[in-house]
Amino acid sequence: MIFPPKCVGCGELFDIFDGSPDLVLCERCMNHWLAAKSQRCRECNVPIGLCRCIPNPMLRSGVCDFIKAVPYDVNNRSSVQDRFIYRMKHKRDERAACFAAEQLCDELLRRLAENNCELGNTVITYVPRIRKAITENGVDQSECIASSIGKVLKIPCLNLIERCRGGREQKKLTLRERKENVRNAFNISNEVRLDGRTVLLFDDVVTTGSSMARCAELLFGVGAEKVISVAVGKTNRKNVQTR
Ligand SMILES: [Zn+2]
Ligand SMILES: [Zn+2]
Repeated sequence: MIFPPKCVGCGELFDIFDGSPDLVLCERCMNHWLAAKSQRCRECNVPIGLCRCIPNPMLRSGVCDFIKAVPYDVNNRSSVQDRFIYRMKHKRDERAACFAAEQLCDELLRRLAENNCELGNTVITYVPRIRKAITENGVDQSECIASSIGKVLKIPCLNLIERCRGGREQKKLTLRERKENVRNAFNISNEVRLDGRTVLLFDDVVTTGSSMARCAELLFGVGAEKVISVAVGKTNRKNVQTR
């Protein structure tokens, strides 16, 4: 069954004679998205889509670069990027995943080159969602977008990290609780070997960076040489260090 194409930002139906079937955002939402992308990072004053800031926990774990598309404000439920991410969490949407991937890939290729990483030696993986959320929503949005990035860059998307049972959803916790929760939240099979590889580590939204940091540690533990973090949204606030 083919669903009539709707804007992922505002939910309005596209004029079928007007738009291409690949449209994800209507013109108005696309303008909002582009404005968000060029909003300046509060730390380095560079547009978020180009900013190089890395949250401290990620920096400490050895993440060497961090690419993000748009700023994300957890308190603004009406922004296009918030509705986009909300929709991705609740519904499998290949078109939207593909759009997110395309929004990141140019900058990703640039940063891979800058970090002297060869595409042929690079894989992508993701911070997995808690199992309960996957059961409820039928989708791991990060897997979905990571897999799209893998297709665009023609690199393998690997399912490497597991969520441990009993982990709580990070967004509901305070900073201190997040730190404790995250230490035991993830695991990687010791059969995985990533010797000498560059790993792109994807998450849909990064807030404090503690989940990314923990997953990066696990990837280094099985031999990854470089870890580059990638996210659609980054909360725009001062908890980062500029390179
Ligand atoms: Zn729209
Ligand atoms: Zn910045």
